[in-house]
Parts: sequence; structure tokens; C-alpha cells
Amino acid sequence: MKLLQEKIVQEGKVLSENVLKVDSFLNHQIDPVLMQAIGNEFAARYKDAGITKILTIESSGIAPSMFAGIILGVPIVFARKRKSLTLSDNLFTSKVHSFTKNETNDISVSKDFLVDGDTVLIIDDFLANGQAVLGLLDIVEQANAITSGVGIVIEKGFQTGGSIIRERGIRVDSLANIKSLANGKVEFFEEDPTA
Ligand code: 5GP
Repeated sequence: MKLLQEKIVQEGKVLSENVLKVDSFLNHQIDPVLMQAIGNEFAARYKDAGITKILTIESSGIAPSMFAGIILGVPIVFARKRKSLTLSDNLFTSKVHSFTKNETNDISVSKDFLVDGDTVLIIDDFLANGQAVLGLLDIVEQANAITSGVGIVIEKGFQTGGSIIRERGIRVDSLANIKSLANGKVEFFEEDPTA
């Protein structure tokens, strides 16, 4: 997605060969116009997939999911990273090792909001080693629901997550796929391999 690639080049900060900071439009301040374009793109790609629910993870997956949810006309459920006092034991949980924080946390989704028969589009901000998406896939499985595909705003294609998920036969749509962050420079794959 050209608009997204341009924004990454203009505003992204390469913190290391593995980490890209995009706090100005995705992870802290949010660019709503860009998020809308991203949500529209996910919705267009999945419009005929019979999606009944979008599943994301707090907090950066929520903004792009909202716009896709408006177009697809389905609810958005976000997995929580911390147990909330108002959440009961009625939960699906999975363990996720955080790439950026280097710690393992439980994520959870109420059994009220993901059910047998749901067809799910998973959306997240980044795909690195795939741990967050694997946790979400695990939760969809626990609910006996079906994952139709995974929409990722920024995939770092030089890390392992994309191939791990695709090798499971799961469709992954990333709107920007980064080939390298070497020498402080963002280089993209020419073509989105899923496009
Ligand atoms: P994974 O679970 O695929 O290893 O990592 C994905 C999660 O880690 C995303 O939900 C995102 O929050 C975070 N993440 C991974 N790589 C980056 C990165 O380069 N920049 C930022 N801002 N977040 C990242």
C-alpha cells in the first residue's frame, strides 16, 4: 500500500536492524485518515470472506480494526493483555511472548464475544516473529471458530512470523512488507507476496 509505505519512509524511525518505531501515526499518535485507508483496504480484501468478527490485540490493532469493522459491518473484539477486574473466569487465554518488551504475558478474550461458528479476520499492527498472531489463532481455535485470514499493517518479512503463519496454510495480507532495516534504512519487498 503506497500511502503507508510513504508514511513509513517519511516518519518511521529505525531503532535497530529489527525494530521500527512508528509512534507518530500508529503506536502512540494515530493518523485517522491513514487508519481509515488501511481499514478500507482490509475490508476490500475480505469483503467476500463471510467475516463475522474482527479479532485484534490491544492497543495498536484497534484503530485499523475499527475502520475495517465499519465497512464489513462486524464487531471488533480485542484481546486484553492484562486481566481486568471486570473480566470473569469466562475466558479464552493464551501465552504471548512480546517481541518489543521481551516478556511473556497471558492474553485473554471473553467467551461471550468469540463463539463456535464465527469466521474471524485477525488484525494486528506488526508481524515480527508471529507470537501475537499465534496467540490469537490459538484463541480462535479454542472458541471453535474459523480464521479466514490475518491482516497486518506492517510485516517485517525478514523475521520469521510471516512464514510460520503462512506455512500453517493461513492467509496473511500485509499492507507493507519490510525487507530490511539495515543501515538505518527501510527497504520494502517490491510486491506484497500475498497480493
Ligand atoms: P510478534 O508477536 O510477531 O513477534 O511481534 C508483533 C508484536 O510486537 C506487535 O503486536 C507489535 O506490538 C510488536 N512489534 C514487533 N516488532 C515491532 C516493531 O518493529 N516496531 C513496533 N513498534 N512494534 C513491534
